[in-house]
Amino acid sequence: MNANRQLLAGLALARGDIDRAAEHRDDIQWLSDSWAHADTRVLELINGTVELGQSASSAIAWLSPTDVTQADWTDLFFLGKVDAVAHFAVASPLEAPDAEALLARSGLREIGSTLSDAEAGLLTTAVALANWHATHRRCPRCGTPTESISAGWARRCPADESLHFPRTDPAVIALVVDADDRALLGRQVAWPEHFFSTLAGFVEAGESAEAAVRREVFEESGVEVDDVTYLGSQPWPFPASLMLGYHARAVPGSEIRVDGTEIAEAYWYSREELVTACKSGEVRLPSSVSIARRLIERWFGSELPGEWSRP
Ligand SMILES: [Zn+2]
Repeated sequence: MNANRQLLAGLALARGDIDRAAEHRDDIQWLSDSWAHADTRVLELINGTVELGQSASSAIAWLSPTDVTQADWTDLFFLGKVDAVAHFAVASPLEAPDAEALLARSGLREIGSTLSDAEAGLLTTAVALANWHATHRRCPRCGTPTESISAGWARRCPADESLHFPRTDPAVIALVVDADDRALLGRQVAWPEHFFSTLAGFVEAGESAEAAVRREVFEESGVEVDDVTYLGSQPWPFPASLMLGYHARAVPGSEIRVDGTEIAEAYWYSREELVTACKSGEVRLPSSVSIARRLIERWFGSELPGEWSRP
Protein backbone atom coordinates (compact mmCIF):
# COMPACT_ATOMS: atom_id res chain seq x y z
CA MET A 1 0.00 0.00 0.00
CA ASN A 2 1.21 3.48 -0.88
CA ALA A 3 2.05 5.29 2.37
CA ASN A 4 1.10 8.59 0.74
CA ARG A 5 -2.51 7.44 0.68
CA GLN A 6 -2.76 6.50 4.35
CA LEU A 7 -5.54 8.54 5.96
CA LEU A 8 -5.23 10.59 9.11
CA ALA A 9 -7.00 8.93 12.04
CA GLY A 10 -8.07 10.30 15.41
CA LEU A 11 -7.86 13.99 14.58
CA ALA A 12 -8.40 15.90 17.84
CA LEU A 13 -11.65 17.64 16.90
CA ALA A 14 -12.98 14.88 14.63
CA ARG A 15 -13.20 12.18 17.30
CA GLY A 16 -16.64 13.07 18.60
CA ASP A 17 -18.67 9.92 18.17
CA ILE A 18 -21.76 11.50 19.69
CA ASP A 19 -25.29 10.59 18.69
CA ARG A 20 -26.61 13.95 17.45
CA ALA A 21 -30.16 12.55 17.73
CA ALA A 22 -31.46 15.03 15.16
CA GLU A 23 -34.91 13.42 15.35
CA HIS A 24 -35.45 15.18 18.71
CA ARG A 25 -34.58 18.71 17.60
CA ASP A 26 -38.16 19.66 16.75
CA ASP A 27 -39.81 17.54 19.45
CA ILE A 28 -40.68 20.18 22.05
CA GLN A 29 -42.14 17.61 24.45
CA TRP A 30 -39.03 15.42 24.32
CA LEU A 31 -36.75 18.42 24.73
CA SER A 32 -38.61 19.80 27.75
CA ASP A 33 -38.80 16.33 29.36
CA SER A 34 -35.05 15.99 28.83
CA TRP A 35 -34.40 19.44 30.25
CA ALA A 36 -36.32 18.35 33.38
CA HIS A 37 -34.39 15.09 33.70
CA ALA A 38 -31.90 14.84 36.57
CA ASP A 39 -29.22 13.12 34.43
CA THR A 40 -29.22 15.78 31.72
CA ARG A 41 -25.95 17.65 31.38
CA VAL A 42 -25.41 21.23 30.28
CA LEU A 43 -22.27 22.88 29.03
CA GLU A 44 -21.95 26.60 29.72
CA LEU A 45 -20.01 28.47 27.04
CA ILE A 46 -18.86 32.01 27.79
CA ASN A 47 -16.88 33.69 25.03
CA GLY A 48 -16.21 30.21 23.62
CA THR A 49 -14.69 28.97 26.86
CA VAL A 50 -15.75 26.33 29.40
CA GLU A 51 -14.96 25.78 33.02
CA LEU A 52 -12.69 22.80 33.56
CA GLY A 53 -14.07 19.80 35.45
CA GLN A 54 -12.65 18.38 38.63
CA SER A 55 -13.66 14.75 38.13
CA ALA A 56 -11.41 12.10 36.61
CA SER A 57 -14.07 11.13 34.06
CA SER A 58 -14.75 14.62 32.77
CA ALA A 59 -12.47 17.44 31.70
CA ILE A 60 -15.43 19.81 31.38
CA ALA A 61 -17.48 21.10 34.33
CA TRP A 62 -20.97 19.92 33.30
CA LEU A 63 -23.98 21.54 34.95
CA SER A 64 -27.45 20.27 35.68
CA PRO A 65 -30.32 22.20 34.01
CA THR A 66 -31.34 23.43 37.48
CA ASP A 67 -27.93 25.14 37.78
CA VAL A 68 -28.57 27.48 34.87
CA THR A 69 -31.20 30.18 34.80
CA GLN A 70 -32.42 31.79 31.63
CA ALA A 71 -30.85 35.10 32.61
CA ASP A 72 -27.43 33.46 32.23
CA TRP A 73 -27.59 32.75 28.54
CA THR A 74 -28.82 33.88 25.14
CA ASP A 75 -28.65 30.67 23.13
CA LEU A 76 -29.58 27.09 23.95
CA PHE A 77 -28.52 24.11 21.83
CA PHE A 78 -29.34 20.41 22.00
CA LEU A 79 -26.01 18.73 21.23
CA GLY A 80 -27.05 15.09 21.29
CA LYS A 81 -26.96 12.00 23.46
CA VAL A 82 -24.06 10.17 25.06
CA ASP A 83 -24.96 6.85 26.69
CA ALA A 84 -28.65 7.85 26.37
CA VAL A 85 -28.06 11.03 28.43
CA ALA A 86 -29.17 14.28 26.78
CA HIS A 87 -26.48 16.95 26.47
CA PHE A 88 -27.23 20.62 25.94
CA ALA A 89 -25.15 23.78 25.74
CA VAL A 90 -26.01 27.32 26.77
CA ALA A 91 -23.99 30.16 25.34
CA SER A 92 -23.65 33.74 26.42
CA PRO A 93 -22.96 36.55 23.94
CA LEU A 94 -19.42 36.73 22.62
CA GLU A 95 -19.18 40.26 23.96
CA ALA A 96 -19.36 39.40 27.66
CA PRO A 97 -15.79 39.84 28.75
CA ASP A 98 -15.17 39.49 32.44
CA ALA A 99 -11.42 39.03 32.48
CA GLU A 100 -11.41 37.65 36.01
CA ALA A 101 -14.07 35.01 35.25
CA LEU A 102 -12.35 33.96 32.01
CA LEU A 103 -9.12 33.14 33.82
CA ALA A 104 -10.55 29.94 35.25
CA ARG A 105 -11.84 28.84 31.84
CA SER A 106 -10.36 27.25 28.73
CA GLY A 107 -11.07 27.30 25.03
CA LEU A 108 -11.35 24.44 22.56
CA ARG A 109 -7.94 25.18 21.03
CA GLU A 110 -6.23 24.77 24.40
CA ILE A 111 -8.00 21.62 25.63
CA GLY A 112 -9.28 20.06 22.40
CA SER A 113 -6.60 17.38 22.17
CA THR A 114 -6.89 16.37 25.84
CA LEU A 115 -10.66 15.82 25.94
CA SER A 116 -12.34 12.42 25.67
CA ASP A 117 -13.77 11.58 22.24
CA ALA A 118 -17.31 12.40 23.36
CA GLU A 119 -16.40 15.66 25.09
CA ALA A 120 -14.33 16.73 22.07
CA GLY A 121 -17.37 16.20 19.85
CA LEU A 122 -19.76 17.96 22.21
CA LEU A 123 -17.55 21.00 22.77
CA THR A 124 -16.63 21.35 19.08
CA THR A 125 -20.33 21.27 18.16
CA ALA A 126 -21.26 23.77 20.89
CA VAL A 127 -18.52 26.21 19.85
CA ALA A 128 -19.49 25.96 16.17
CA LEU A 129 -23.16 26.63 16.92
CA ALA A 130 -22.39 29.47 19.34
CA ASN A 131 -20.13 31.22 16.82
CA TRP A 132 -22.77 31.01 14.12
CA HIS A 133 -25.67 32.25 16.24
CA ALA A 134 -23.62 35.13 17.62
CA THR A 135 -22.99 36.54 14.15
CA HIS A 136 -26.20 35.57 12.31
CA ARG A 137 -28.99 37.23 14.28
CA ARG A 138 -30.71 38.80 11.28
CA CYS A 139 -32.29 37.52 8.11
CA PRO A 140 -29.89 37.85 5.15
CA ARG A 141 -32.88 38.52 2.87
CA CYS A 142 -34.76 41.27 4.71
CA GLY A 143 -32.77 42.18 7.83
CA THR A 144 -35.48 41.18 10.31
CA PRO A 145 -34.15 39.65 13.55
CA THR A 146 -34.48 35.87 13.26
CA GLU A 147 -35.40 33.34 15.93
CA SER A 148 -33.55 30.20 16.90
CA ILE A 149 -35.51 27.02 16.14
CA SER A 150 -34.89 23.25 16.09
CA ALA A 151 -33.04 23.34 19.42
CA GLY A 152 -30.46 25.72 18.00
CA TRP A 153 -29.89 23.98 14.66
CA ALA A 154 -31.55 26.64 12.50
CA ARG A 155 -32.90 30.19 12.57
CA ARG A 156 -36.17 31.34 11.06
CA CYS A 157 -37.19 34.75 9.78
CA PRO A 158 -40.66 35.68 11.13
CA ALA A 159 -41.21 38.16 8.28
CA ASP A 160 -40.61 35.95 5.24
CA GLU A 161 -40.44 32.47 6.84
CA SER A 162 -37.03 31.79 5.35
CA LEU A 163 -34.85 29.23 7.14
CA HIS A 164 -31.13 29.62 7.78
CA PHE A 165 -28.71 26.92 8.81
CA PRO A 166 -25.33 26.95 10.58
CA ARG A 167 -22.62 27.87 8.13
CA THR A 168 -19.50 25.79 7.57
CA ASP A 169 -16.71 27.11 5.35
CA PRO A 170 -14.52 24.49 3.66
CA ALA A 171 -10.81 25.21 3.82
CA VAL A 172 -7.94 23.16 2.44
CA ILE A 173 -4.60 22.53 4.09
CA ALA A 174 -1.78 20.64 2.43
CA LEU A 175 1.57 19.17 3.23
CA VAL A 176 3.55 19.60 0.01
CA VAL A 177 6.67 17.53 -0.65
CA ASP A 178 9.34 17.92 -3.32
CA ALA A 179 11.18 15.20 -5.24
CA ASP A 180 13.50 14.66 -2.23
CA ASP A 181 10.50 14.23 0.11
CA ARG A 182 11.23 17.53 1.83
CA ALA A 183 8.18 19.32 3.33
CA LEU A 184 7.14 22.85 2.44
CA LEU A 185 6.44 24.94 5.56
CA GLY A 186 5.64 28.62 5.61
CA ARG A 187 5.11 31.49 8.03
CA GLN A 188 2.13 33.76 7.61
CA VAL A 189 2.79 37.49 7.65
CA ALA A 190 0.49 37.82 10.68
CA TRP A 191 2.36 35.20 12.73
CA PRO A 192 5.32 35.87 15.06
CA GLU A 193 8.84 34.93 14.02
CA HIS A 194 9.62 31.19 14.00
CA PHE A 195 5.98 30.03 13.67
CA PHE A 196 5.75 27.69 10.67
CA SER A 197 3.01 25.46 9.32
CA THR A 198 1.63 23.81 6.22
CA LEU A 199 -0.08 26.07 3.67
CA ALA A 200 -3.83 26.54 3.83
CA GLY A 201 -6.70 28.59 2.44
CA PHE A 202 -10.41 28.75 1.83
CA VAL A 203 -12.16 26.96 -1.01
CA GLU A 204 -13.65 29.63 -3.27
CA ALA A 205 -17.13 29.68 -4.77
CA GLY A 206 -17.41 27.26 -7.68
CA GLU A 207 -14.09 25.58 -6.93
CA SER A 208 -13.23 21.97 -6.07
CA ALA A 209 -11.16 21.28 -2.97
CA GLU A 210 -8.32 19.82 -5.08
CA ALA A 211 -8.24 22.91 -7.29
CA ALA A 212 -8.15 25.05 -4.13
CA VAL A 213 -5.06 23.16 -2.93
CA ARG A 214 -3.25 23.81 -6.23
CA ARG A 215 -4.32 27.47 -6.32
CA GLU A 216 -3.57 28.30 -2.67
CA VAL A 217 -0.15 26.64 -2.64
CA PHE A 218 0.80 28.38 -5.88
CA GLU A 219 -0.53 31.80 -4.80
CA GLU A 220 1.17 31.70 -1.42
CA SER A 221 4.47 30.00 -2.26
CA GLY A 222 4.89 29.97 -6.03
CA VAL A 223 5.16 26.17 -5.91
CA GLU A 224 3.14 24.25 -8.47
CA VAL A 225 1.65 20.99 -7.20
CA ASP A 226 0.03 17.93 -8.72
CA ASP A 227 -0.96 14.53 -7.30
CA VAL A 228 -3.22 16.02 -4.63
CA THR A 229 -4.40 13.29 -2.24
CA TYR A 230 -7.16 13.69 0.36
CA LEU A 231 -6.23 12.50 3.87
CA GLY A 232 -9.06 13.47 6.22
CA SER A 233 -10.98 16.36 7.73
CA GLN A 234 -11.78 17.99 11.00
CA PRO A 235 -14.09 20.79 12.07
CA TRP A 236 -12.25 23.98 13.00
CA PRO A 237 -14.94 26.28 14.41
CA PHE A 238 -12.78 29.44 14.68
CA PRO A 239 -15.21 30.67 13.60
CA ALA A 240 -16.67 28.26 11.04
CA SER A 241 -14.15 26.19 9.07
CA LEU A 242 -14.04 22.58 8.05
CA MET A 243 -10.39 21.75 7.38
CA LEU A 244 -9.78 19.29 4.54
CA GLY A 245 -6.29 17.82 4.79
CA TYR A 246 -4.18 16.89 1.74
CA HIS A 247 -0.82 15.53 0.74
CA ALA A 248 0.50 17.09 -2.46
CA ARG A 249 3.58 16.72 -4.64
CA ALA A 250 5.46 19.68 -6.09
CA VAL A 251 6.03 19.74 -9.83
CA PRO A 252 9.79 19.19 -10.31
CA GLY A 253 11.67 22.41 -10.84
CA SER A 254 9.11 24.74 -9.29
CA GLU A 255 10.75 27.24 -7.00
CA ILE A 256 9.58 29.01 -3.87
CA ARG A 257 8.44 32.60 -4.43
CA VAL A 258 6.35 33.71 -1.45
CA ASP A 259 3.57 36.21 -2.08
CA GLY A 260 4.68 38.46 0.79
CA THR A 261 1.10 39.43 1.59
CA GLU A 262 -0.14 36.19 3.17
CA ILE A 263 3.11 34.25 3.51
CA ALA A 264 6.25 36.01 4.71
CA GLU A 265 8.69 33.12 4.25
CA ALA A 266 8.62 29.46 3.23
CA TYR A 267 11.27 26.75 2.99
CA TRP A 268 11.75 23.11 2.16
CA TYR A 269 12.68 21.00 5.20
CA SER A 270 14.15 17.54 5.22
CA ARG A 271 13.32 15.56 8.38
CA GLU A 272 16.82 16.19 9.72
CA GLU A 273 16.60 19.91 8.97
CA LEU A 274 13.25 20.17 10.71
CA VAL A 275 14.60 18.47 13.84
CA THR A 276 17.61 20.79 13.90
CA ALA A 277 15.43 23.87 13.39
CA CYS A 278 12.96 22.83 16.10
CA LYS A 279 15.74 22.00 18.57
CA SER A 280 17.37 25.39 18.07
CA GLY A 281 14.03 27.24 18.36
CA GLU A 282 14.29 28.43 14.76
CA VAL A 283 10.97 26.72 13.99
CA ARG A 284 7.88 26.36 16.18
CA LEU A 285 5.12 24.04 14.96
CA PRO A 286 1.32 24.23 15.25
CA SER A 287 -0.23 22.56 18.29
CA SER A 288 -1.46 18.96 18.41
CA VAL A 289 -5.11 20.02 18.20
CA SER A 290 -4.56 21.17 14.59
CA ILE A 291 -4.70 19.10 11.43
CA ALA A 292 -1.51 20.90 10.36
CA ARG A 293 0.46 19.28 13.17
CA ARG A 294 -0.92 15.88 12.22
CA LEU A 295 -0.02 16.38 8.54
CA ILE A 296 3.54 17.26 9.54
CA GLU A 297 3.83 14.28 11.90
CA ARG A 298 2.39 11.91 9.30
CA TRP A 299 5.07 13.04 6.84
CA PHE A 300 7.77 12.95 9.53
CA GLY A 301 6.85 9.38 10.48
CA SER A 302 6.20 9.88 14.20
CA GLU A 303 4.87 12.28 16.79
CA LEU A 304 7.02 15.32 17.47
CA PRO A 305 7.79 16.66 20.96
CA GLY A 306 5.16 18.92 22.55
CA GLU A 307 7.79 21.51 23.41
CA TRP A 308 8.30 22.15 19.69
CA SER A 309 4.80 23.66 19.56
CA ARG A 310 3.97 27.32 19.56
CA PRO A 311 3.57 28.63 23.08
ZN1 LIG B 1 -36.45 37.77 6.30
